[in-house]
Amino acid sequence: METNSNSFYKKILDAVFFREIWDAMKVTFKHMLHRPMTFEYPREKRTIPDAHRGALGLLRYDDGKERCVGCDLCEAACPSRCIKVISEEDKSLPLQRYATEFYIDITKCVFCGYCVEACPVNALAMTKLYEFSTHDKRTLLFDKERLYDIGERYIDDAKKYLYAHNQEKEGEESIAYRYHFPVPVEKSQDS
Ligand code: SF4
Ligand code: SF4
Repeated sequence: METNSNSFYKKILDAVFFREIWDAMKVTFKHMLHRPMTFEYPREKRTIPDAHRGALGLLRYDDGKERCVGCDLCEAACPSRCIKVISEEDKSLPLQRYATEFYIDITKCVFCGYCVEACPVNALAMTKLYEFSTHDKRTLLFDKERLYDIGERYIDDAKKYLYAHNQEKEGEESIAYRYHFPVPVEKSQDS
């Protein structure tokens, strides 16, 4: 009985002194003293981690040769079915193939990175590029030219992504990244 009357008086005092308002103001004043946690995007930008899964890019070897051998493994690994690779044999190098066309429908991409993991020659990598919003959805079907352009412009991001996902130290040359085609064995004149 006494407890009921106590809570009744407490409610009256809370109402008279606007206790809820003071509690709310206390939280507001406390946060006024904190550093702001929001960024004023696009003027301010977050630091993107190396393992960030941003736009995909196609990579070349240091001599400019395309890494992609058109094997379709990325297409097979993609859960969103947003990759299309059309390949053919390189006439100048028998048994070697290259992608004549390469498309990624970035509107369907879920940025899982499976395609990068599936690629046997590290021809694909993700970059820190995330600003490609547009009013025209058709421009989000990235073709081979655009993918190589992203790979070229964001090569440092791409390398860092591959290092991060190979669990190697930053700056250390990745063995996987340095992959080169095996040199064909010349037939001996005697045989
Ligand atoms: S990141 Fe995932 S969804 Fe996007 S293209 Fe690669 S495999 Fe497909
Ligand atoms: S990007 Fe890699 S996995 Fe995809 S077709 Fe080219 S070589 Fe094969």
